[in-house]
Formats: sequence, structure tokens, C-alpha cells
Amino acid sequence: MLTTPDFTEITATAKLRTSTHGNRAKCLQRLVRLELPVPRTVALSFDTVRAIAAGRLPDMQSLIGVFGPGALLSVRSSSQMSDWGGPGTILNIGMTDAKAAELAMTHGRDAADALYVSFIRSYAVDVLRLDADGYEGPMTPRLAKAEFETETEDPFPQNTAEQLAEVLKSMARAWEGTTARLLRQAQGAPVDAGLGLVVQEMALGIGQGVSGSGVVQFAAPDTGAPQVTGRWLPQAQGRAALSESDAHYILNDPRGRSLQEVAPDTVSALCAAGRLMRDRLREEMQIEFTLMNGQLSILDAVRCPRSGRAEVAIAVALAEDGIITRDEALMRIPPFTLNQLLHRQVGPGVARDVLTRGIAAAPGAATGKIVFSAATAQAMAAQGEACILVRRETSPEDIRGMHAAQAILTERGGMTSHAAVIARGLGLPCVTGAIRLQLDGRKKTLTVPGRRIFHEGDVITLDGSTGDILVGPVPLVEPALGGAFASLMDWADAARDIGIRANADTPEDAAMAQRFGVDGIGLCRTEHMFFDPARLTVMREMIFAENPADRAAALDRLLPMQRADFIELFQIMQGQPVTIRLFDPPLHEFLPGDRDGIRALAEALDLPVSRVQSRIESLQEFNPMLGLRGVRLGVTVPEIYEMQARAIFEATIKASGKGAPVVPEIMIPLVSARREVELVKARIDVIAAEVKSRSGQEFTYRLGVMVETPRAALRAGEIAEHSAFLSFGTNDLTQMTYGLSRDDAGRFMSAYVQLGVFPEDPFQQLDIDGVGELMLLGAERGRRARPELMLSICGEHAGHPATIAFSRRAGFDYVSCSPFRVPVAKLAAAQLSIQDKILPYDAH
Ligand code: PEP
Ligand code: MG
Repeated sequence: MLTTPDFTEITATAKLRTSTHGNRAKCLQRLVRLELPVPRTVALSFDTVRAIAAGRLPDMQSLIGVFGPGALLSVRSSSQMSDWGGPGTILNIGMTDAKAAELAMTHGRDAADALYVSFIRSYAVDVLRLDADGYEGPMTPRLAKAEFETETEDPFPQNTAEQLAEVLKSMARAWEGTTARLLRQAQGAPVDAGLGLVVQEMALGIGQGVSGSGVVQFAAPDTGAPQVTGRWLPQAQGRAALSESDAHYILNDPRGRSLQEVAPDTVSALCAAGRLMRDRLREEMQIEFTLMNGQLSILDAVRCPRSGRAEVAIAVALAEDGIITRDEALMRIPPFTLNQLLHRQVGPGVARDVLTRGIAAAPGAATGKIVFSAATAQAMAAQGEACILVRRETSPEDIRGMHAAQAILTERGGMTSHAAVIARGLGLPCVTGAIRLQLDGRKKTLTVPGRRIFHEGDVITLDGSTGDILVGPVPLVEPALGGAFASLMDWADAARDIGIRANADTPEDAAMAQRFGVDGIGLCRTEHMFFDPARLTVMREMIFAENPADRAAALDRLLPMQRADFIELFQIMQGQPVTIRLFDPPLHEFLPGDRDGIRALAEALDLPVSRVQSRIESLQEFNPMLGLRGVRLGVTVPEIYEMQARAIFEATIKASGKGAPVVPEIMIPLVSARREVELVKARIDVIAAEVKSRSGQEFTYRLGVMVETPRAALRAGEIAEHSAFLSFGTNDLTQMTYGLSRDDAGRFMSAYVQLGVFPEDPFQQLDIDGVGELMLLGAERGRRARPELMLSICGEHAGHPATIAFSRRAGFDYVSCSPFRVPVAKLAAAQLSIQDKILPYDAH
């Protein structure tokens, strides 16, 4: 037989758990234990609410009996995690003709009528889901009840039990609705997540003495700095103060009236309650309170709302005050939150040519070329071009394009539209709801009435912190990374047990990596150094050389440039390891593709156009990514690697003379056979010996291999015999494991993910099952051959928390990711090692 669903009065000793009664019920119990003035409250468990949804109510008379006759009640939702949502609060249950008459005696007719009308409206619209139109405009209780009766063919219920029963049923069923279910699952709620409810005696907020309601918090929502903020509204209930423009301040304020003016003792009591909660609930809370004739009630407290920056500041301050441990502070911050702190902003005082304005949906600013489709964004990003994705609104198919873009702009939507939510998750600036924008997807144009037309490829700047869309590029300032952020990073460094290096090709990248406090550079792609216009010509001369002497002459001119690059890198990194990857791309990438470029090159090299043309044609390959590149160039045109090795060694001597000794790590790309390594190693060792004997200086270096082909992973044992380290280049390794072009997969990746062929784009999220298995094989075979072998990953996947978890488990020494991913990687790494210890963290 089914038992009657039960309920529990919230007392200091009642058996209540977040996992059975929800977060709000548990929090209210903590407030009761702190002896704060919480009105009498009853908690309904997840099981009870499930029973109510199925039509079985608790014993209503005994439930109401807890509060005594004549009490007005509120009902609030209490889900396990506050961000899983829940149906909205219903106030003033128990308003009847008799109660209204009683209130008219104590509070006056107007106040009583206003409460009664507002309850009838809320009961009709929010509980019974009747049409709202009939209840609009000023109204008396008589008219409101007549409207109710017309619609329902029943009189307005005149007893608390019946009203409360309807409220409970309506809230229980709302939780079961499809939209509510989808919304909470998007926030990580399990399919069977339950809803608890709390029934609380109303503290009215109206009366002759100081009466009203308000919300107060003690940390600024944008920065997290200690600051009393909030609003208070006289003669009001619930959270009305937050939505009224004429609400008063809490503390005295030159901008308007304040609670402190009329009730200074209440303000002191609220501040004391805030301090007590911070100490004992170990969190910055936002308090909802009511005053009735000067008497304070604390109705509810929730984690105070906060930006990413405030999240970090609050956690660090709690740890610095000894309220939580450093490990707990680290565990409280979702790693991707840090992206919000890392973003550039439009410089102060910069002249703004504002094209139009929208909703500031995700912070930071970015400049880029306009693109109108996710596919174009991906294509542009593949060419290293910064772009801003402009859409009417975004949908899940746009995800990959959003990853590729620097910022997102939508004509429609708001703070919680798809674009806004995803952009915040990715740490990208985003402006939504720019309704004056006129987009023409077919013509690929964008305009605002009265302004010029913008085409695909035109440059704009998006300020996601203000909502401005600016014409052209504007100077941006780097984010401030001191204070709480720096402390958090220090603590992460102390907690983590895997190295974090950066991929850095230029001195600017290296300097940025240093600001984030990396353990070294894990990948310097040297070919980027040759795209500088002054060097490109010499590079092309080298490519066009007809004989070894001419090639040597061109390389001799490149040598000092490379040496200067490396000296600068070594000096910036101050003795930390720097892994330099030898030349990787196919040579034809350095040659012009169009007629004008070919003619200019012919002039520069003093050659007939036809000769230039035929040389370019001779370098063309059907499949360049699988052709003459990487170590294959090193084997067949050895002078390039020899020049690079000489530049590295000479720079080592120079930089070591000026500072900490440098031990360069030289990495050979695209290896697939042991013999390739032997050939390159032999030459590099000869160059090292030459540089040592010519300079009379000693130095050490390490030579390693980039594992980017499945064969290199499979043959890692024999390759490791000649390598001090192996670094998994998971971009190429993914490409080659799947046989899937890095540059072309974007065209069908959305379809593949949507159809569930791949769970995620394997170029974004490491394929642990396939590519990961090859990596484990390679790691295991390599280490068996050479136990001290250093292992790492340097593909784009490296900064992702899931990759870091994998790399830790596999015993890698470090991961190497782009500088802006370093903070997220550090925090994720710290969290993983803390999770492995026993956590003294009572999750709340
Ligand atoms: C890789 O292939 O993973 C890698 C890091 O090298 P690149 O992206 O330069 O090919
Ligand atoms: Mg590669």
C-alpha cells in the first residue's frame, strides 16, 4: 500500500539533505542553525514532490497545522543544484475574503486589496495557467474573483488547504515538463533529477512601521570585491526591489534613498548575518529579507550571483581568510571560467565609431573580418585569419564555426540565447540582440540604416563588455592578470603534478607564455619565422637554388636571422626548456600562387617568368600534407636542418653567456621511421661538434621526435633509442589516424557529429579511444626502450581538461598548449591532482 507522502519542518536537527530535499531546504536549515530569524518553514522531499505530481498529496491539514491558523504562506522550489532551475515562487497563499478583511483592519483596506488581487492574479495565471489578459490593469478583489469565476466556472477557493494543494500540484508538474527537463539537463542535471519544495510562513513586508522587502549581498557581482550592494523597496514583497527602478539602496548613497536612513540597526544586523554566513556556510551569500513593522526576517539565501572575475576573487578571498582551503578554492572554479579574465578589452579613451549596439552577452573585445557562415569562419581560421561570425541567431550546427571565430555577433537573442551561452563557455566576446543590424545572408552584406554597407571580409571590432559594434580595428588592451588571478595560478602551480608548457613561435607569444608562468616552450614552429617579408625573399632564393653552393649562400643569409630569433626566445625563457621544431611545411607554401606574385618573384630573382612558373609547378604535389615535408625535407634537403641546428647552437652559447644556461630541445617533425631519425641526428651531432670546437664552448642539447604518424607511435620503441623525448603532435596524428584532412573536415564535421558518427569533432576533443590508444602504445613502447624518455603532447588538444586527465594517467611529463589556454590547463591539472587526494570538501 502506498504511504501518504510526508514533509519535514526545518529545524536545526531535522533530517534534511541536499540530495533528498534540495539546495534551498538545506541552506535554510543552515540559517536556522545559525539562529538567524528565518520564518517557520516546511520542506517537501523529492519523493514527496514526485508523489504530488502523480496525484498523491501529503495530509494538507497537518501541513497547514505547522503554521497555525490564518498564516499566509509562500512556496519555493528547492532543486539539488541551484542552476538546475525550478518553477517560480508563489506568495500569499491563504488570501481569502476573511483574511483580506482581517488585514484591512490591521494594514488598511488598500494594502489588503492589493495583496488579494495580486494573489488571485498569480493563482489564476501562474498556478492554474489561465489567460493573463483578463487580469491586466487596476482591479478590485471583486472584479478579479468575478474574472476567475467566469473562466473556471468555480468560485475563487476560500481555504488555504485547497489553494496550497493546487500550488504544490502545479509546481510538481511544471518540473516534469519537457522544456524544464531540457533546460536543467543542459546545466548538467541527471535525467531523474528531483525537485524539493519549501513552504514558508510569509513575513508580509507591509505595515505601518518600517516595512518592505529587499535583497543584499556583500561582494560586488562584477569584481567580487567586498562591497554591500542590493536594493530595498518599502511596502513590498519578494524580490520586487530588484525589478523596480525606484527601489532604495541599502547603504546611504548620494544617488537616492536608502534602508540605512530608516533602519540603521537592520542594516547592521544584515551585515552581521552576511559575515556569519560567509564564515559558516563558507560562501558569499545573497540574502532575501523582509521587514515588518521594523522586525527583520531572513527568508532565503543563495550563492551571490557573480561574473567569472568575481568567482575567482571570492574563492581566493575565502581561502586567504582561512575560511576554505586553497585546494577548495581551486576546486570551486570551473577551469573555463578563467577565459573570462583573460580577454582583451577596448582601450580606455579610445575613440569609438559605434556602428550599432546590442546586448553585452560575453565579455572581452575582438577585431576581425566579418563572416556570415560557420563554414567560412572555419576556412578563415585555417588560414590564420581573425574573423567575427555574424548570424541572425546561432544554432548547434554553428558550434565549430564559433570555435573558429574571435567573436560572435547576432541580430536576435539575449543573454541566454544559444550564441551567448556558448560564447561565454568558450570565453569569446559576444554581442546579441543587435536589432538594428540588417543582415543579408545571400548577398553577404551587413548594414545599419544610414550607415555604409559592410561586406564579408570587412573589419569590425566587437566589444562584448559594452555591447558596442565598432567600425574597423581599434587598439585593445591586454587583461589585468594580477591579484586574485595570480594567487590562484600560484596555488594551481603548487597543486598540479604535470608540467604545462606553451606553444610559442614568436617572442610576443613567449612573453605572453611567461606572464602566465609556464614551465617552458613545448613547441616553437620555426617556419613562422620565414614568413616575414624580408626573409621570404631569401627563403625563395634558397628554394630556387640550382646547386648546393647557391643554396648554401641563401641559407648563410638566413642563419643570422634564425640565430637572432632563438637568442631572443632563450632570453625571454631564462633557462627554461625551449623545444624548437625543425622546419615542417612543404616548400611550395613559400611560393606565390597568383600571377602578380609570380611576376614580382621573377623580377626579384632576375629570372624569366616561365622559369619561376615551371619551378613552382615542379614543387606542386597532389597531396602536400602527405608529401615532401617535415623530416622528409630534412633527409632530402639536409642543408635546411643543418642551418637551423647551427643557429640553435650558436644562440645557445650566446644566451647561456648572458644568463641561465640553455639546454635546447630540438624536435624532428613527421617522423615515420627510425632511419629518418638516425640520418638527421648524425648530421645535427656533427654540427654541434663543429660549433663547440669552433667556439671553444661546451653546451648540451636534447634531440627528440614529434609523433605525428601512426607508424611513429607503433615503432616508438626503436625511435626512442635515438630520442631523448617524444611529443605527440595530435593535430597530424588525428588527421592520419582517421585519414581525415585537417583542412577539409569542417565541411562535413557538423553532419558527422549531428548523426552521432563522431561524439565530437576529433580535431577539437582528443579521440581517446583511437588516437589515444595509439598514444598509449607509443608511450609504453618508448618508455620500455628508454625509461627516462620524456613524454608530452603539443597538438591543439593539449590545453583541454579531458586531454590533461588523459596525459596525467598516461604518465606524460607535460602538455603544451597555446599561451591563452595555459591558465585553464593549469587549473584543470591542479583539480585533477587534488581530486586524487581525499577532498575535505563538503559539497553544498
Ligand atoms: C601537430 O601536428 O599536432 C602539431 C602540433 O603540428 P602542426 O599543427 O604544426 O602540424
Ligand atoms: Mg604537425
